[in-house]
Amino acid sequence: MPELPEVETIVKKLHSVLNTKLVSAIRVNREKSFQGDISQIVGQPILKVSRRAKLIRFHFPNNMNILAHLKMTGQFIFVDGNKKLGGGHPSQDWIGSLPSKHTRVEIDLLGADVENDLGENILQGSKNQQKQSHLFFNDIRVFGWLRVMTDDQVETEYQKYGPDINTPEASEEYFKSKLQNTSRKIKQVIMDNKIISGVGNIYACDGLNLAKIHPVRSANSLSAKEAETLLKSLKKVINLGIKLGGATISDYRDVDGSAGKYQDEVLVYGREGQKCKNCAGFIEKIKVGGRGTFFCPNCQL
Ligand SMILES: [Zn+2]
Repeated sequence: MPELPEVETIVKKLHSVLNTKLVSAIRVNREKSFQGDISQIVGQPILKVSRRAKLIRFHFPNNMNILAHLKMTGQFIFVDGNKKLGGGHPSQDWIGSLPSKHTRVEIDLLGADVENDLGENILQGSKNQQKQSHLFFNDIRVFGWLRVMTDDQVETEYQKYGPDINTPEASEEYFKSKLQNTSRKIKQVIMDNKIISGVGNIYACDGLNLAKIHPVRSANSLSAKEAETLLKSLKKVINLGIKLGGATISDYRDVDGSAGKYQDEVLVYGREGQKCKNCAGFIEKIKVGGRGTFFCPNCQL
């Protein structure tokens, strides 16, 4: 499942190529994947692509947006001639031709790349305005979605999420107050998007290891000092994940620069039986809230 660093990475890439391009057509191949009125988007230029939690937002000038969630297996791939970029769930579609049988939505675009082709754009003017490219939304399991929403509807959706872990709004004061209020297991609390957004399973496991806190401790058993250390550790592993373009654990990791590198730096996630990087202990795997959880029983107390 794409986590916050992977989503952040796709959003930056998509913004760099989609910014100012005009949506000339949208084809929905699977109704479940797209909700809303296509006519409110067709003919509009994309002003910006941004992220909040794991939501991807395409901004349009008429106060309309497409909000998207990749869920388990979603991916966005932009194709312009031989150029192909994007990300999300790694699959054969990263390297195969598109559309594929997993392509749920196709968005046709017009216009040159502002950042890459600026010189050419100025010289050739109108010719480049007609340059075609395509954005494909592929999703094997069809849990992901695209929704046409007004600015107000997007804001309402955003209210469902706690502050993003990598922002100042996820402050020590806020974090400590949330932890004090619950006896739920700390790992489940930090993965609860209503409390803090963007801490997925990989980064929750690694953040707890870095902070030397056992994943099944009650949240309200953490001291103020432990809570501060945990928050810092979570921000640290998430920021490293963003810097490395996320984690790509698959056979397609080296394709088209779409893959992240965090899996090479991972502390405990997926390292059952291997040595802890904090101490001389060995990583164990347990289930917490139904999720595979990796930790070191020697240093995480
Ligand atoms: Zn250890």
